[in-house]
Amino acid sequence: MEPKVYVVLWFDTEDFVTPESDDAAKRLAELLSLNGVRGTFKLVGEKVRALERRGRYDVISAIKQHDVGYHTDRHSVHPVVAEYLKDLEMERGKEEFLKREGRGIDDIKRVFGVSPSCYGQPGDSWAPQVYLALRDLGITVYLDESNFIDLDGGPFWYCGILNVLKLSGAKGRIIGLPFEMGQEGFLDQLEKEFDAAYEEVVRAGGPGIISIYNHPTTLVTEEFWDAVNFARGRNTPLDQLKLPRLKSPQQVEAGFKDFDSFLKYVKSKPGVEFVTASDLKRIFADAASDRDFSRDELAALLNPPELISYREVGGIWVSAAEIFWMVVQALSSVLETGALPSSVKNKYPLGPYGEVRSEAFPYVTRREFLSACLTAREFIEANGRLPDFVELKGVKISPEDFLSTAALVYLEESSGKRAELVKVVEGTVASKACVRYLGAKSAWNWVIFPDHFEAWNLVELARLQAWTAKPATASLREGVARDTQDWSLQNKQGSLALQSGSPVTRNRIECPAMVVADTWRQLFTLAGLAPFSFKSVNRR
Ligand SMILES: [Zn+2]
Repeated sequence: MEPKVYVVLWFDTEDFVTPESDDAAKRLAELLSLNGVRGTFKLVGEKVRALERRGRYDVISAIKQHDVGYHTDRHSVHPVVAEYLKDLEMERGKEEFLKREGRGIDDIKRVFGVSPSCYGQPGDSWAPQVYLALRDLGITVYLDESNFIDLDGGPFWYCGILNVLKLSGAKGRIIGLPFEMGQEGFLDQLEKEFDAAYEEVVRAGGPGIISIYNHPTTLVTEEFWDAVNFARGRNTPLDQLKLPRLKSPQQVEAGFKDFDSFLKYVKSKPGVEFVTASDLKRIFADAASDRDFSRDELAALLNPPELISYREVGGIWVSAAEIFWMVVQALSSVLETGALPSSVKNKYPLGPYGEVRSEAFPYVTRREFLSACLTAREFIEANGRLPDFVELKGVKISPEDFLSTAALVYLEESSGKRAELVKVVEGTVASKACVRYLGAKSAWNWVIFPDHFEAWNLVELARLQAWTAKPATASLREGVARDTQDWSLQNKQGSLALQSGSPVTRNRIECPAMVVADTWRQLFTLAGLAPFSFKSVNRR
Protein backbone atom coordinates (compact mmCIF):
# COMPACT_ATOMS: atom_id res chain seq x y z
CA MET A 1 0.00 0.00 0.00
CA GLU A 2 1.42 3.36 -1.04
CA PRO A 3 1.93 6.13 1.52
CA LYS A 4 -1.08 8.33 2.12
CA VAL A 5 -1.04 11.90 0.85
CA TYR A 6 -4.03 13.88 2.04
CA VAL A 7 -4.91 16.77 -0.26
CA VAL A 8 -7.16 19.48 1.11
CA LEU A 9 -8.41 22.08 -1.39
CA TRP A 10 -9.76 25.27 0.12
CA PHE A 11 -11.23 28.40 -1.40
CA ASP A 12 -11.39 31.73 0.40
CA THR A 13 -14.69 32.97 -0.99
CA GLU A 14 -14.65 36.56 0.15
CA ASP A 15 -14.97 39.05 -2.69
CA PHE A 16 -18.36 40.64 -2.09
CA VAL A 17 -17.45 43.58 -4.37
CA THR A 18 -17.04 41.90 -7.77
CA PRO A 19 -20.18 40.21 -9.17
CA GLU A 20 -18.03 38.19 -11.62
CA SER A 21 -16.36 36.48 -8.66
CA ASP A 22 -19.72 34.81 -7.90
CA ASP A 23 -19.46 33.00 -11.24
CA ALA A 24 -15.88 32.03 -10.47
CA ALA A 25 -16.88 30.39 -7.17
CA LYS A 26 -19.74 28.57 -8.89
CA ARG A 27 -17.57 27.29 -11.72
CA LEU A 28 -14.86 26.06 -9.35
CA ALA A 29 -17.46 24.27 -7.22
CA GLU A 30 -18.90 22.64 -10.35
CA LEU A 31 -15.48 21.63 -11.71
CA LEU A 32 -14.69 19.97 -8.40
CA SER A 33 -18.02 18.13 -8.43
CA LEU A 34 -17.48 16.99 -12.04
CA ASN A 35 -14.14 15.52 -10.97
CA GLY A 36 -15.72 13.84 -7.94
CA VAL A 37 -13.72 15.97 -5.51
CA ARG A 38 -15.05 17.86 -2.49
CA GLY A 39 -13.44 21.17 -1.63
CA THR A 40 -13.75 23.43 1.40
CA PHE A 41 -15.25 26.87 0.70
CA LYS A 42 -14.43 29.33 3.47
CA LEU A 43 -17.10 31.99 3.17
CA VAL A 44 -17.21 35.61 4.28
CA GLY A 45 -20.56 36.67 5.81
CA GLU A 46 -20.85 39.72 3.56
CA LYS A 47 -20.23 37.49 0.53
CA VAL A 48 -23.11 35.22 1.55
CA ARG A 49 -25.39 38.25 1.88
CA ALA A 50 -24.14 39.60 -1.49
CA LEU A 51 -25.02 36.28 -3.15
CA GLU A 52 -28.52 36.60 -1.72
CA ARG A 53 -28.84 40.26 -2.79
CA ARG A 54 -27.74 39.34 -6.31
CA GLY A 55 -30.14 36.36 -6.36
CA ARG A 56 -27.28 33.91 -6.95
CA TYR A 57 -28.96 30.82 -5.53
CA ASP A 58 -27.25 28.84 -8.31
CA VAL A 59 -23.88 29.72 -6.75
CA ILE A 60 -25.16 28.79 -3.30
CA SER A 61 -26.38 25.39 -4.45
CA ALA A 62 -23.09 24.67 -6.27
CA ILE A 63 -21.12 25.45 -3.08
CA LYS A 64 -23.55 23.40 -1.01
CA GLN A 65 -22.08 20.25 -2.60
CA HIS A 66 -18.88 20.97 -0.68
CA ASP A 67 -17.62 21.57 2.83
CA VAL A 68 -18.36 25.07 4.13
CA GLY A 69 -15.99 26.97 6.40
CA TYR A 70 -15.86 30.51 7.79
CA HIS A 71 -13.64 33.44 6.86
CA THR A 72 -15.07 36.27 9.08
CA ASP A 73 -18.04 38.53 8.50
CA ARG A 74 -16.41 41.37 6.52
CA HIS A 75 -12.79 40.28 5.95
CA SER A 76 -10.81 43.44 5.18
CA VAL A 77 -13.24 46.13 6.33
CA HIS A 78 -11.51 48.01 9.15
CA PRO A 79 -11.11 47.27 11.96
CA VAL A 80 -9.99 43.78 10.85
CA VAL A 81 -9.64 40.97 13.40
CA ALA A 82 -6.06 41.69 14.51
CA GLU A 83 -6.82 45.43 14.70
CA TYR A 84 -9.74 45.09 17.09
CA LEU A 85 -8.10 42.31 19.13
CA LYS A 86 -4.61 43.73 19.39
CA ASP A 87 -4.96 45.23 22.89
CA LEU A 88 -7.57 42.87 24.37
CA GLU A 89 -7.04 40.06 26.85
CA MET A 90 -8.22 36.52 26.09
CA GLU A 91 -11.80 36.59 27.42
CA ARG A 92 -12.54 40.16 26.31
CA GLY A 93 -11.09 39.33 22.89
CA LYS A 94 -13.27 36.26 22.60
CA GLU A 95 -16.40 38.31 23.39
CA GLU A 96 -15.40 40.96 20.85
CA PHE A 97 -14.84 38.35 18.14
CA LEU A 98 -18.20 36.69 18.86
CA LYS A 99 -19.95 40.07 18.78
CA ARG A 100 -18.40 41.16 15.49
CA GLU A 101 -18.22 37.84 13.64
CA GLY A 102 -21.29 36.00 14.95
CA ARG A 103 -23.56 37.49 12.29
CA GLY A 104 -21.75 35.83 9.37
CA ILE A 105 -21.97 32.42 11.04
CA ASP A 106 -25.71 32.88 11.52
CA ASP A 107 -25.99 33.78 7.82
CA ILE A 108 -24.07 30.64 6.78
CA LYS A 109 -26.35 28.49 8.93
CA ARG A 110 -29.45 30.20 7.53
CA VAL A 111 -28.39 30.07 3.85
CA PHE A 112 -26.36 26.84 3.69
CA GLY A 113 -28.10 24.94 6.47
CA VAL A 114 -24.79 23.90 8.06
CA SER A 115 -22.41 25.08 10.77
CA PRO A 116 -19.00 26.01 9.36
CA SER A 117 -16.49 23.16 9.65
CA CYS A 118 -13.43 25.38 9.92
CA TYR A 119 -12.12 28.91 10.20
CA GLY A 120 -9.22 30.77 8.64
CA GLN A 121 -8.14 34.36 9.20
CA PRO A 122 -8.44 37.09 6.55
CA GLY A 123 -5.01 37.82 5.11
CA ASP A 124 -2.52 37.79 7.96
CA SER A 125 -5.02 38.79 10.63
CA TRP A 126 -4.14 35.96 13.03
CA ALA A 127 -4.98 36.35 16.74
CA PRO A 128 -5.04 33.85 19.65
CA GLN A 129 -8.29 35.10 21.24
CA VAL A 130 -10.11 33.78 18.15
CA TYR A 131 -9.41 30.22 19.31
CA LEU A 132 -11.53 30.71 22.43
CA ALA A 133 -14.41 31.94 20.29
CA LEU A 134 -14.03 29.00 17.89
CA ARG A 135 -14.37 26.62 20.85
CA ASP A 136 -17.62 28.33 21.86
CA LEU A 137 -18.85 28.18 18.26
CA GLY A 138 -18.06 24.47 17.93
CA ILE A 139 -15.61 25.14 15.07
CA THR A 140 -12.76 22.70 15.70
CA VAL A 141 -10.50 23.09 12.66
CA TYR A 142 -8.27 26.06 11.76
CA LEU A 143 -7.44 25.82 8.06
CA ASP A 144 -5.26 28.54 6.57
CA GLU A 145 -1.65 29.64 6.19
CA SER A 146 0.27 31.70 8.75
CA ASN A 147 3.83 32.28 9.86
CA PHE A 148 2.71 33.12 13.39
CA ILE A 149 2.89 29.54 14.69
CA ASP A 150 4.85 26.58 13.41
CA LEU A 151 4.98 23.24 15.16
CA ASP A 152 7.67 21.30 13.31
CA GLY A 153 5.94 21.90 9.98
CA GLY A 154 3.06 19.54 10.74
CA PRO A 155 -0.61 19.77 11.71
CA PHE A 156 -1.01 20.56 15.40
CA TRP A 157 -3.40 21.16 18.27
CA TYR A 158 -3.56 24.61 19.80
CA CYS A 159 -6.22 25.69 22.30
CA GLY A 160 -8.05 22.47 21.47
CA ILE A 161 -8.39 23.38 17.78
CA LEU A 162 -6.81 21.28 15.01
CA ASN A 163 -4.51 23.54 12.99
CA VAL A 164 -3.46 22.97 9.40
CA LEU A 165 -1.63 26.25 9.15
CA LYS A 166 2.02 25.75 8.39
CA LEU A 167 3.27 22.64 6.61
CA SER A 168 6.77 21.77 5.49
CA GLY A 169 9.14 18.92 4.75
CA ALA A 170 7.92 15.35 5.08
CA LYS A 171 4.66 16.46 6.70
CA GLY A 172 3.39 18.34 3.68
CA ARG A 173 3.22 21.69 1.98
CA ILE A 174 0.94 24.65 1.38
CA ILE A 175 0.48 25.56 -2.26
CA GLY A 176 -1.33 28.67 -3.47
CA LEU A 177 -3.15 28.91 -6.81
CA PRO A 178 -2.67 32.62 -7.60
CA PHE A 179 -3.73 35.13 -10.28
CA GLU A 180 -1.14 33.58 -12.63
CA MET A 181 -3.22 30.45 -13.15
CA GLY A 182 -3.82 30.15 -16.93
CA GLN A 183 -0.63 31.93 -17.96
CA GLU A 184 1.79 30.28 -20.33
CA GLY A 185 3.97 27.74 -18.49
CA PHE A 186 2.16 28.14 -15.16
CA LEU A 187 0.61 24.66 -15.09
CA ASP A 188 4.00 23.00 -15.62
CA GLN A 189 5.51 24.95 -12.79
CA LEU A 190 2.54 24.18 -10.50
CA GLU A 191 2.76 20.45 -11.22
CA LYS A 192 6.47 20.54 -10.42
CA GLU A 193 5.73 22.29 -7.11
CA PHE A 194 3.13 19.65 -6.30
CA ASP A 195 5.48 16.81 -7.28
CA ALA A 196 8.23 18.10 -5.01
CA ALA A 197 5.85 18.21 -2.04
CA TYR A 198 4.25 14.87 -2.92
CA GLU A 199 7.57 13.07 -3.33
CA GLU A 200 8.88 14.34 -0.02
CA VAL A 201 5.83 12.97 1.79
CA VAL A 202 5.99 9.65 -0.08
CA ARG A 203 9.74 9.26 0.52
CA ALA A 204 9.17 9.64 4.25
CA GLY A 205 6.44 6.98 4.13
CA GLY A 206 3.49 9.35 4.69
CA PRO A 207 0.99 10.34 5.74
CA GLY A 208 1.29 14.01 4.89
CA ILE A 209 -1.02 16.85 4.00
CA ILE A 210 -0.78 18.98 0.88
CA SER A 211 -2.95 22.01 1.50
CA ILE A 212 -3.91 23.81 -1.71
CA TYR A 213 -5.74 27.12 -1.64
CA ASN A 214 -7.24 29.59 -4.03
CA HIS A 215 -9.30 32.75 -3.97
CA PRO A 216 -12.03 32.22 -6.60
CA THR A 217 -11.93 35.94 -7.41
CA THR A 218 -8.37 35.55 -8.77
CA LEU A 219 -9.76 33.58 -11.72
CA VAL A 220 -11.66 36.64 -12.97
CA THR A 221 -9.73 39.64 -11.63
CA GLU A 222 -6.20 40.97 -12.02
CA GLU A 223 -5.93 42.51 -8.55
CA PHE A 224 -7.42 41.85 -5.11
CA TRP A 225 -10.82 43.39 -4.40
CA ASP A 226 -9.71 44.44 -0.90
CA ALA A 227 -6.36 45.93 -1.93
CA VAL A 228 -8.20 48.46 -4.11
CA ASN A 229 -10.61 49.42 -1.32
CA PHE A 230 -9.08 48.72 2.09
CA ALA A 231 -5.28 48.93 1.73
CA ARG A 232 -3.10 50.51 4.45
CA GLY A 233 -5.86 50.99 6.98
CA ARG A 234 -8.15 52.87 4.58
CA ASN A 235 -11.90 52.18 4.53
CA THR A 236 -13.74 52.94 1.31
CA PRO A 237 -17.41 53.53 2.22
CA LEU A 238 -19.44 50.47 1.24
CA ASP A 239 -21.58 52.50 -1.22
CA GLN A 240 -18.47 53.80 -3.04
CA LEU A 241 -16.53 50.56 -3.48
CA LYS A 242 -14.22 50.35 -6.49
CA LEU A 243 -14.19 47.31 -8.74
CA PRO A 244 -10.88 45.57 -9.35
CA ARG A 245 -9.60 45.23 -12.93
CA LEU A 246 -11.08 42.19 -14.67
CA LYS A 247 -9.27 39.54 -16.71
CA SER A 248 -10.12 39.10 -20.41
CA PRO A 249 -12.50 36.22 -21.31
CA GLN A 250 -9.51 34.32 -22.80
CA GLN A 251 -7.52 34.67 -19.58
CA VAL A 252 -10.51 33.49 -17.56
CA GLU A 253 -10.96 30.41 -19.74
CA ALA A 254 -7.25 29.59 -19.56
CA GLY A 255 -7.37 29.81 -15.75
CA PHE A 256 -10.25 27.36 -15.39
CA LYS A 257 -8.59 25.04 -17.91
CA ASP A 258 -5.41 25.01 -15.79
CA PHE A 259 -7.42 24.37 -12.66
CA ASP A 260 -9.22 21.42 -14.23
CA SER A 261 -5.97 19.96 -15.59
CA PHE A 262 -4.22 20.38 -12.24
CA LEU A 263 -7.08 18.68 -10.41
CA LYS A 264 -6.91 15.70 -12.77
CA TYR A 265 -3.13 15.60 -12.37
CA VAL A 266 -3.32 15.50 -8.56
CA LYS A 267 -6.09 12.90 -8.73
CA SER A 268 -3.90 10.61 -10.88
CA LYS A 269 -1.21 10.36 -8.20
CA PRO A 270 -1.11 7.09 -6.22
CA GLY A 271 -1.97 7.46 -2.55
CA VAL A 272 -3.69 10.83 -2.93
CA GLU A 273 -6.89 11.16 -0.92
CA PHE A 274 -8.87 14.39 -1.23
CA VAL A 275 -10.14 15.54 2.14
CA THR A 276 -12.21 18.43 3.47
CA ALA A 277 -11.82 20.29 6.77
CA SER A 278 -14.52 18.00 8.20
CA ASP A 279 -12.52 14.93 7.12
CA LEU A 280 -9.36 16.30 8.73
CA LYS A 281 -11.20 16.65 12.02
CA ARG A 282 -12.17 12.97 11.86
CA ILE A 283 -8.79 11.67 10.63
CA PHE A 284 -6.73 13.68 13.13
CA ALA A 285 -8.98 13.12 16.15
CA ASP A 286 -7.08 13.63 19.40
CA ALA A 287 -6.26 10.25 20.95
CA ALA A 288 -5.20 11.85 24.26
CA SER A 289 -8.47 13.51 25.21
CA ASP A 290 -10.27 11.80 28.10
CA ARG A 291 -7.70 9.01 28.04
CA ASP A 292 -6.45 7.42 31.27
CA PHE A 293 -2.67 7.71 31.65
CA SER A 294 -0.95 5.17 33.87
CA ARG A 295 1.46 6.09 36.65
CA ASP A 296 4.45 5.03 34.50
CA GLU A 297 3.19 6.91 31.48
CA LEU A 298 2.87 10.09 33.51
CA ALA A 299 6.36 9.57 34.94
CA ALA A 300 7.67 9.32 31.37
CA LEU A 301 5.83 12.51 30.38
CA LEU A 302 7.42 14.39 33.29
CA ASN A 303 10.97 13.53 32.32
CA PRO A 304 13.14 15.62 32.11
CA PRO A 305 11.35 17.80 34.64
CA GLU A 306 13.17 21.10 34.01
CA LEU A 307 12.10 21.33 30.39
CA ILE A 308 8.41 21.45 29.69
CA SER A 309 6.98 20.81 26.28
CA TYR A 310 4.53 18.66 24.43
CA ARG A 311 5.60 15.06 24.84
CA GLU A 312 4.74 11.71 23.38
CA VAL A 313 4.07 8.46 25.19
CA GLY A 314 2.91 5.25 23.53
CA GLY A 315 2.40 7.08 20.21
CA ILE A 316 0.11 9.68 21.81
CA TRP A 317 0.99 13.36 22.05
CA VAL A 318 0.21 15.34 25.18
CA SER A 319 0.49 19.13 25.62
CA ALA A 320 2.39 20.81 28.47
CA ALA A 321 -0.98 22.00 29.86
CA GLU A 322 -2.32 18.43 29.87
CA ILE A 323 0.81 17.29 31.71
CA PHE A 324 0.28 20.08 34.27
CA TRP A 325 -3.31 18.96 34.78
CA MET A 326 -2.40 15.30 35.22
CA VAL A 327 0.45 15.89 37.67
CA VAL A 328 -1.54 18.21 39.97
CA GLN A 329 -4.39 15.71 39.85
CA ALA A 330 -2.07 12.85 40.82
CA LEU A 331 -0.21 14.76 43.55
CA SER A 332 -3.35 16.23 45.11
CA SER A 333 -4.80 12.76 45.46
CA VAL A 334 -1.70 11.79 47.50
CA LEU A 335 -3.11 14.21 50.09
CA GLU A 336 -6.29 12.13 50.30
CA THR A 337 -5.02 8.57 49.87
CA GLY A 338 -1.34 8.78 50.82
CA ALA A 339 -0.21 7.32 47.50
CA LEU A 340 -0.05 8.15 43.80
CA PRO A 341 -3.10 6.90 41.87
CA SER A 342 -2.51 4.04 39.42
CA SER A 343 -3.83 6.27 36.63
CA VAL A 344 -5.20 9.76 35.98
CA LYS A 345 -7.82 10.92 33.51
CA ASN A 346 -6.64 13.49 31.02
CA LYS A 347 -8.43 16.68 30.11
CA TYR A 348 -7.34 19.50 27.84
CA PRO A 349 -6.98 22.76 29.78
CA LEU A 350 -6.05 26.05 28.15
CA GLY A 351 -2.85 27.83 29.10
CA PRO A 352 -2.72 30.70 31.59
CA TYR A 353 -4.10 34.08 30.49
CA GLY A 354 -1.42 36.23 32.09
CA GLU A 355 2.35 36.01 32.50
CA VAL A 356 3.53 35.99 36.13
CA ARG A 357 7.14 35.35 37.08
CA SER A 358 7.99 33.52 40.29
CA GLU A 359 8.65 35.97 43.11
CA ALA A 360 11.07 33.58 44.83
CA PHE A 361 12.11 29.92 44.91
CA PRO A 362 11.25 28.95 48.48
CA TYR A 363 11.46 25.70 50.41
CA VAL A 364 8.06 24.46 51.53
CA THR A 365 6.93 21.34 53.33
CA ARG A 366 5.79 18.44 51.25
CA ARG A 367 2.28 18.84 52.63
CA GLU A 368 2.19 22.56 51.69
CA PHE A 369 3.23 21.65 48.17
CA LEU A 370 0.59 18.92 47.82
CA SER A 371 -2.06 21.38 49.09
CA ALA A 372 -0.99 23.87 46.42
CA CYS A 373 -1.44 21.08 43.84
CA LEU A 374 -5.00 20.66 45.11
CA THR A 375 -5.63 24.42 44.74
CA ALA A 376 -4.27 24.33 41.17
CA ARG A 377 -6.39 21.28 40.38
CA GLU A 378 -9.54 22.99 41.66
CA PHE A 379 -8.72 26.11 39.65
CA ILE A 380 -8.42 24.05 36.46
CA GLU A 381 -11.63 22.18 37.19
CA ALA A 382 -13.48 25.46 37.71
CA ASN A 383 -11.92 27.51 34.88
CA GLY A 384 -10.78 25.03 32.23
CA ARG A 385 -7.35 26.67 32.10
CA LEU A 386 -4.08 26.82 34.01
CA PRO A 387 -3.78 29.48 36.73
CA ASP A 388 -1.50 32.46 35.98
CA PHE A 389 0.42 31.54 39.15
CA VAL A 390 0.23 29.18 42.12
CA GLU A 391 0.77 30.53 45.63
CA LEU A 392 3.16 28.81 48.03
CA LYS A 393 3.44 30.35 51.49
CA GLY A 394 2.19 33.67 50.09
CA VAL A 395 4.77 33.64 47.26
CA LYS A 396 3.61 33.63 43.64
CA ILE A 397 5.11 30.79 41.59
CA SER A 398 4.82 30.72 37.79
CA PRO A 399 3.05 27.68 36.30
CA GLU A 400 6.25 26.52 34.58
CA ASP A 401 8.28 26.60 37.79
CA PHE A 402 5.42 24.96 39.65
CA LEU A 403 5.17 22.18 37.06
CA SER A 404 8.89 21.46 37.07
CA THR A 405 8.82 21.26 40.87
CA ALA A 406 5.72 19.05 40.75
CA ALA A 407 7.47 16.79 38.25
CA LEU A 408 10.38 16.28 40.65
CA VAL A 409 8.02 15.56 43.54
CA TYR A 410 6.06 13.10 41.40
CA LEU A 411 9.19 11.27 40.23
CA GLU A 412 10.43 10.98 43.80
CA GLU A 413 7.05 9.84 45.01
CA SER A 414 6.86 7.18 42.31
CA SER A 415 10.34 5.90 43.16
CA GLY A 416 9.30 5.56 46.80
CA LYS A 417 11.46 8.39 48.15
CA ARG A 418 9.94 11.17 50.15
CA ALA A 419 11.77 14.26 51.31
CA GLU A 420 9.87 16.39 53.79
CA LEU A 421 11.04 19.65 52.23
CA VAL A 422 10.39 20.67 48.65
CA LYS A 423 12.55 23.30 46.94
CA VAL A 424 10.82 25.21 44.16
CA VAL A 425 12.92 24.97 40.99
CA GLU A 426 12.98 26.83 37.72
CA GLY A 427 11.19 25.42 34.69
CA THR A 428 10.98 26.42 31.04
CA VAL A 429 8.09 25.97 28.64
CA ALA A 430 10.01 25.07 25.51
CA SER A 431 6.85 24.78 23.39
CA LYS A 432 6.55 28.59 23.53
CA ALA A 433 9.12 28.54 20.72
CA CYS A 434 6.34 27.51 18.35
CA VAL A 435 5.12 31.13 18.36
CA ARG A 436 7.42 32.98 16.00
CA TYR A 437 8.34 36.63 16.60
CA LEU A 438 9.65 37.01 13.06
CA GLY A 439 6.63 35.21 11.65
CA ALA A 440 4.33 37.61 13.49
CA LYS A 441 6.30 40.59 12.25
CA SER A 442 6.10 39.39 8.67
CA ALA A 443 2.33 38.82 9.05
CA TRP A 444 1.88 42.48 9.97
CA ASN A 445 3.14 43.46 6.51
CA TRP A 446 -0.26 42.49 5.11
CA VAL A 447 -1.22 45.28 2.70
CA ILE A 448 -4.56 45.83 4.47
CA PHE A 449 -2.96 46.77 7.81
CA PRO A 450 -2.03 50.42 8.39
CA ASP A 451 1.67 51.20 7.87
CA HIS A 452 3.87 50.11 10.80
CA PHE A 453 1.09 47.97 12.31
CA GLU A 454 2.33 45.92 15.28
CA ALA A 455 0.42 43.85 17.82
CA TRP A 456 2.88 42.38 20.33
CA ASN A 457 0.14 41.64 22.86
CA LEU A 458 -1.12 39.00 20.39
CA VAL A 459 2.32 37.36 20.44
CA GLU A 460 2.49 37.36 24.23
CA LEU A 461 -1.00 35.87 24.57
CA ALA A 462 -0.19 33.33 21.86
CA ARG A 463 2.95 32.25 23.73
CA LEU A 464 0.95 31.60 26.89
CA GLN A 465 -1.38 29.35 24.93
CA ALA A 466 1.64 27.45 23.58
CA TRP A 467 1.08 25.40 26.75
CA THR A 468 -1.73 23.76 24.73
CA ALA A 469 0.33 23.04 21.61
CA LYS A 470 1.12 19.50 20.48
CA PRO A 471 1.45 17.66 17.16
CA ALA A 472 -1.69 16.18 15.61
CA THR A 473 -1.42 12.64 14.30
CA ALA A 474 -3.66 10.53 12.10
CA SER A 475 -5.88 8.79 14.59
CA LEU A 476 -5.53 5.18 15.73
CA ARG A 477 -9.32 5.08 15.88
CA GLU A 478 -9.49 6.08 12.24
CA GLY A 479 -7.20 3.20 11.22
CA VAL A 480 -5.77 5.05 8.23
CA ALA A 481 -2.26 4.10 7.10
CA ARG A 482 -1.32 3.73 10.69
CA ASP A 483 0.20 0.25 10.85
CA THR A 484 3.91 0.95 10.77
CA GLN A 485 4.13 4.27 8.98
CA ASP A 486 2.47 6.59 11.40
CA TRP A 487 3.03 10.25 12.13
CA SER A 488 4.73 9.74 15.43
CA LEU A 489 7.25 7.36 13.90
CA GLN A 490 7.83 9.84 11.13
CA ASN A 491 8.24 12.58 13.71
CA LYS A 492 10.98 10.63 15.38
CA GLN A 493 13.07 10.36 12.25
CA GLY A 494 15.75 12.98 12.17
CA SER A 495 15.05 14.11 15.69
CA LEU A 496 16.20 12.87 19.02
CA ALA A 497 14.13 10.11 20.48
CA LEU A 498 14.93 9.15 24.00
CA GLN A 499 14.33 6.02 25.96
CA SER A 500 13.25 7.20 29.35
CA GLY A 501 12.77 4.60 32.03
CA SER A 502 10.13 2.38 30.55
CA PRO A 503 11.12 0.73 27.27
CA VAL A 504 7.80 1.55 25.63
CA THR A 505 7.86 5.26 26.33
CA ARG A 506 9.87 7.94 24.63
CA ASN A 507 10.06 11.63 25.13
CA ARG A 508 10.52 13.84 22.16
CA ILE A 509 12.41 17.04 22.66
CA GLU A 510 11.31 20.08 20.76
CA CYS A 511 13.29 23.27 20.82
CA PRO A 512 16.99 23.69 20.04
CA ALA A 513 17.79 24.30 23.73
CA MET A 514 16.04 21.07 24.61
CA VAL A 515 17.84 19.21 21.89
CA VAL A 516 21.16 20.33 23.33
CA ALA A 517 20.11 19.33 26.82
CA ASP A 518 18.89 16.03 25.53
CA THR A 519 22.05 15.30 23.59
CA TRP A 520 24.00 15.70 26.82
CA ARG A 521 21.55 13.49 28.55
CA GLN A 522 21.95 10.78 25.94
CA LEU A 523 25.73 10.99 26.10
CA PHE A 524 25.57 10.66 29.87
CA THR A 525 23.20 7.76 29.53
CA LEU A 526 25.48 6.05 27.03
CA ALA A 527 28.36 6.53 29.44
CA GLY A 528 26.26 4.88 32.14
CA LEU A 529 25.96 8.05 34.22
CA ALA A 530 22.86 9.66 35.61
CA PRO A 531 22.68 13.00 33.76
CA PHE A 532 20.41 14.98 36.07
CA SER A 533 20.51 14.12 39.70
CA PHE A 534 17.26 15.55 40.97
CA LYS A 535 18.14 14.87 44.57
CA SER A 536 21.44 16.68 44.63
CA VAL A 537 20.41 19.57 42.38
CA ASN A 538 16.97 20.39 43.54
CA ARG A 539 16.09 18.98 46.90
CA ARG A 540 17.53 18.82 50.33
ZN1 LIG B 1 -9.23 36.00 2.66
